[in-house]
Amino acid sequence: MNPVYTALGTTIFETMSARARATGAINLGQGFPDGRGPEDVLAEGARALLEGSNQYPPMAGTPTLRQAVADHYRVHQGLDLSPDEVIVTSGATEALAAAIFALVSPGDEVVMFQPLYDAYLPLVQRAGGVAKLVRLEPPEWRITASALAAAASDRTRLVILNSPLNPCGTLATPAELALLADFCISHNAIAICDEVWEHVVFDGLAHRSLMTLPGMRDRTVKIGSAGKIFSLTGWKVGWMCAAPAIASVLAKAHQFLTFTTPPNLQAAAAFGLGKDAAYFADMRAGYQGSRDRLAAGLGALGYAVLPSSATYFLNIDLTASGIAMGDVAFAAWLIEEAGVATIPVSAFYAEDPVTTVVRLCFAKQDATLDAALARMEKRP
Ligand code: PMP
Ligand code: GLN
Repeated sequence: MNPVYTALGTTIFETMSARARATGAINLGQGFPDGRGPEDVLAEGARALLEGSNQYPPMAGTPTLRQAVADHYRVHQGLDLSPDEVIVTSGATEALAAAIFALVSPGDEVVMFQPLYDAYLPLVQRAGGVAKLVRLEPPEWRITASALAAAASDRTRLVILNSPLNPCGTLATPAELALLADFCISHNAIAICDEVWEHVVFDGLAHRSLMTLPGMRDRTVKIGSAGKIFSLTGWKVGWMCAAPAIASVLAKAHQFLTFTTPPNLQAAAAFGLGKDAAYFADMRAGYQGSRDRLAAGLGALGYAVLPSSATYFLNIDLTASGIAMGDVAFAAWLIEEAGVATIPVSAFYAEDPVTTVVRLCFAKQDATLDAALARMEKRP
């Protein structure tokens, strides 16, 4: 058996959701909205299914969705991609696996930032890569030039960037993007950019892809997810975008992971990507309102809420909230004693974790957020 997997625990998202189901807790842990999602996108998926779009589509994705992704990024992010540079995957999770397996050879060093999304490290290790972890510190969670330089060597091959950043709710700054671009170019490294949260950005801020920086167009793999863009996390339709020389290798890895992705859901995602700017603005405004509702409610209960300008998540700082417990103990107490599930942020560290921060998902109906807040009046 492979030691990477025998040593691995179950992902924190599944663990906390299973505990929430077992206890009847309100689940503000795993990130998924409790609304229905856009009706017209659902209808398009149903139409495609009923009209018979149910056999294997082309391995790299339907031409319609590949074109829709390229068009979408032209309109929303100023990128000039051809449909041949888009490969459709079964969620961003599969895109991450395909990209990491395609690009990492045994002994290659991969620079990643902690807190890190929990799929990255096991995939890099399974590919034989060597993780070079750069630790980010609350409350700003910023990448510094010195920390990045300390992670470099002549075996640096890849950088994995998640922006907007789950679990922190931050967006890479122009200075951080410039730093990363310089780093990749000077070390001849490829960047895998996990941008699944690209549309869930607040306060008038805008996401910028590392791919748009000078010199990065042909050394970036940009990953997206329809699940996040349309608030339909169970759909597992994602994609990776890269210059042809990289895309052809990514496709080789993809063909033996899932080969393809349900064509009816690809049709629905393609339809949705063509929605007008008002749809995306409304979605952002809705989530921003939910963020503000939960932040205000937590503040009134004496919790210290860290700033969140993107993603479905906000964090509380336990120490500043006057709670002496660590994040794992507090999350366990909260689910068992108050009936609210959260995610302890130490789960996003491979070593030397920050243990005083807990993540809550605000992508919920007002009534759900209010019910969770009422339960959280009980404090340890
Ligand atoms: N990357 C990040 C940073 C995520 O937060 C998520 C899911 N929330 C994923 C990847 C996986 O996306 P998908 O559900 O499309 O596989
Ligand atoms: N990305 C989601 C989160 O951060 C969970 C995804 C999953 O459960 N694999 O909560």
